[in-house]
Amino acid sequence: MLPDTAIEKKTTFDPQKARRDFPLLKQTAYGKPLIYFDNAATSQKPQMVIDELTKYYTEYNANIHRGVHYLSQKASQEFDDVRVKAQQFINAQSQKEIVFVRGTTEAINLVASSYGRKNISAGDEIIISAMEHHSNIVPWQMLCEEKKVVLKVIPMNDNGELLIDEFEKLISPKTKFIAVVHISNSLGTINPVKQIIVKAHQHNIPVLVDGAQSVVHTPVDVQELDCDFFAFSGHKMFGPTGIGCLYGKLHLLEDMPPYQGGGEMIHSVSFAKTTYNEVPFKFEAGTPNIADVIALGTAFDYIQSLNRKAIADYESELTEYASAKLKDIESIRLIGTAKEKASVVSFIIEGVNALDAGMYLDTMGIAVRTGHHCTEPVMDRFKIPGTIRASFLFYNTKEEIDVMVEGVKKAIALLKKKN
Ligand code: PLP
Repeated sequence: MLPDTAIEKKTTFDPQKARRDFPLLKQTAYGKPLIYFDNAATSQKPQMVIDELTKYYTEYNANIHRGVHYLSQKASQEFDDVRVKAQQFINAQSQKEIVFVRGTTEAINLVASSYGRKNISAGDEIIISAMEHHSNIVPWQMLCEEKKVVLKVIPMNDNGELLIDEFEKLISPKTKFIAVVHISNSLGTINPVKQIIVKAHQHNIPVLVDGAQSVVHTPVDVQELDCDFFAFSGHKMFGPTGIGCLYGKLHLLEDMPPYQGGGEMIHSVSFAKTTYNEVPFKFEAGTPNIADVIALGTAFDYIQSLNRKAIADYESELTEYASAKLKDIESIRLIGTAKEKASVVSFIIEGVNALDAGMYLDTMGIAVRTGHHCTEPVMDRFKIPGTIRASFLFYNTKEEIDVMVEGVKKAIALLKKKN
């Protein structure tokens, strides 16, 4: 059954209709209506995704690909269909280019470990950006340490925008890889990844795009982007936790060594010699996360049924509304004011600890995130310990933002007095 939001594709978006797809949004917290502004950490799940999980476990739970019986065949078919849905979702050329992983973090680790170990060696250079999530920093640092490779960082300006001229200066004949985030989770900046990829390819450098925050807000076409790798997590785009996708250009994946060894990833095993399965199975050792892959397929269906243009317009309206209201409050400083920005509003309150403010908002039923958001270098860049972050999806409303703004004002009155 199609969700309420898909019933008509109209230009003015109705968040109340959208909310009906998400049962959790009816919850209260401490007796107050829940206001969920922690969407950049994980999205809530539509009923149809939740139902799909139950359906798998109640109707056809079985291990896949090795069974001749009915249940196994049914589960295998449902599982395999999702690879095609994932291919269509990001417009990959072939379903072989989709590797199921636990999420963005595992996807990046896979590339760093497999592609990186094979193709990057002592004295080479890797470029990342100043606004990467830790998961697009640490795997590269680990590789750098192991291989004696140099990590270079694209700097950003005070608005949280990458300095593209500086990026171009960082490229050298030793640059062997570039990994960059599509949309920053702590600043909301939408990076000019296409421009970065075009430049990188002029020097034959492959590019990985961290799409953890982007796939839920904007349609992604990996062929149009021409990125070499693209990573995203299911749980940030209405799917379950523990599942995500790595896209890689077929020739690159085919040339890469396996990431983990075990069942499924082999063609044949003997004590004398083991041969590996073809792509993508070569990278999917062991029993996969069957239930969550299948429910991720339903999350793809859900997103594809939406009017994405109307949603994008509505989400930027929410972001602008919240930014304008917060900016008006004395002692608030917005962190991340890029011209190209997605649904994240990060801010600090001068004289009020972000964690205290977050805890106060929590007592009002408002879920925001506080801290460094796994982007400690971003906080260092702005010389702050952390921010309060409100991140929106289309099921949020301006009324909820009004409640948060009032909460922030109260937090300032209460907590600033004590300081
Ligand atoms: N990259 C970005 C930009 C993120 O926002 C996140 C999660 O917050 C990640 C990577 C890591 O995603 P996961 O924890 O789902 O692997």
